[in-house]
Amino acid sequence: MELWDFKYLRRGDADYEKARCGAVWNGRVPDRYPELIVYPQQDSHVQSIVCYAREHGMTIGTKSGGHSWTASFLRDGGIFVDLAHMNHFSFDVQQRIAVAQPAAYGSDLNAALVPHDLMFPGGHCPTVGLGGFLLQGGFGWNSRKWGVACESVLAIDVVTATGELIHASAYEHTDFFWAARGAGCGYFGLITKFYLKLHTLPHGIMTARYVFEIDDFDEVLTAVDSVSEQVLPDLEIGFFVARDQDGFVGRPTLALTADALSDTEEEARRALGLLHNLPVFSKTIKSFPYISCTLKQMLQRFDDILDNRGRRYEANNLWADVPVQMLLPTFHNIIDALPAAPSHLYTMWWLPNKERPEMAFSMEARLYIALYAISVDPKDDQPNGKYVVDSMVPMNEYKKGIQLADENLPAAPGMFMKMRNFSKLENLRHKHDREGRFYGYIRLPEEFERAMAVL
Ligand SMILES: Cc1cc2nc3c(=O)[nH]c(=O)nc-3n(C[C@H](O)[C@H](O)[C@H](O)COP(=O)(O)OP(=O)(O)OC[C@H]3O[C@@H](n4cnc5c(N)ncnc54)[C@H](O)[C@@H]3O)c2cc1C
Repeated sequence: MELWDFKYLRRGDADYEKARCGAVWNGRVPDRYPELIVYPQQDSHVQSIVCYAREHGMTIGTKSGGHSWTASFLRDGGIFVDLAHMNHFSFDVQQRIAVAQPAAYGSDLNAALVPHDLMFPGGHCPTVGLGGFLLQGGFGWNSRKWGVACESVLAIDVVTATGELIHASAYEHTDFFWAARGAGCGYFGLITKFYLKLHTLPHGIMTARYVFEIDDFDEVLTAVDSVSEQVLPDLEIGFFVARDQDGFVGRPTLALTADALSDTEEEARRALGLLHNLPVFSKTIKSFPYISCTLKQMLQRFDDILDNRGRRYEANNLWADVPVQMLLPTFHNIIDALPAAPSHLYTMWWLPNKERPEMAFSMEARLYIALYAISVDPKDDQPNGKYVVDSMVPMNEYKKGIQLADENLPAAPGMFMKMRNFSKLENLRHKHDREGRFYGYIRLPEEFERAMAVL
């Protein structure tokens, strides 16, 4: 008997494994096998899937862009809803609002917005789906100035655990709206549309990249950290340490990047000048200062660094509220053991600078540190997985929490929101998804497990 008149696959069908693996951006696909893979095309399809799951006591995992490093949407048994076909968007230039389905890419939305002098703070990598990106917070272009991208979500359409389609915002169905801005891979509904606030396109987009020898690592980072209080909100500074980057084959180097999305080039130059004028920057072995570019070029640059679809990624991350100097000894141990390119250590001076609205998202700190071990060989999975977890352990004493964007909850769970917010989220889950129709977090840190026990 046919279950639906839109595409779906049962476990055991000829195309099942191709569909299961093809849904995962990461080349390392976990051994988790849903009973059904379903491809809805519209909201009513999603409703009928949820009703079916309810009748048959099944649990639902949802994928938008498939970029979760851990493929958090893939679970054993249950229904895997692949929203691949729900990737459309529209926008109103006068109202400065876009309506996007979850599998739309921020880069496609921005490509359409730019000619209208508008922009949305989509992810740095062009192929991240808006769905998962917005749910976990969303560290997008100009997010230091405009806020994490979920702050620009005005409303959502969501199918609840009972199969009802509701519109949630700060004014109606507020529980669903509160949770949708930060719950990430543990949300208790299935979002079918995001209503997004659009921003004026910055006209001073400039980037800079400075490459240094690892011998100068401590001096460079200490100097940058010393001026961090003066970093303007429209400037994002980070660094990559990787082998073979910028033509320096065989050894790791430090590449410091600075991106300014300012209103004018003059302002961008002023923002970037803060770094450029630091005396230690004379030690650079290669530099690309003050490069004017378009948003499209910025996205392309990140695509070249990060979008190695099909490679096997192991990721781990943490937030730390300390001066960068405290982390230097651990950074050196991480760099000494860094696997082959394009594996990399990434750190961003996030430097939170604005009040956030009341929402589930609540974990951030001045420094964001992420470690990625990348390979094409399945034999490297185990050592790489161990490396990204073990080598960050010495930083635990400074760890405030983790980011869900780069979560590795199965191997390295950490607090991804404030305890108060987590308790509220779990109370809301109990209220709105009592039967657990939607998979929650794959694993929780001990602190949250303890909180669950007393809820
Ligand atoms: C190459 C690369 C670059 C990245 N760059 C950035 C970046 O610049 N900034 C940043 O913040 N993050 C970044 N990330 C992390 C990324 O934002 C998260 O992995 C995010 O989850 C990806 O969104 P997605 O739609 O592809 O997620 P998916 O993998 O499709 O979904 C992740 C989880 O979100 C939930 N979910 C997804 N869609 C829905 C829905 N419609 N309704 C309910 N629940 C849903 C599910 O629990 C799912 O398991 C990057 C990741 C990669 C791989």
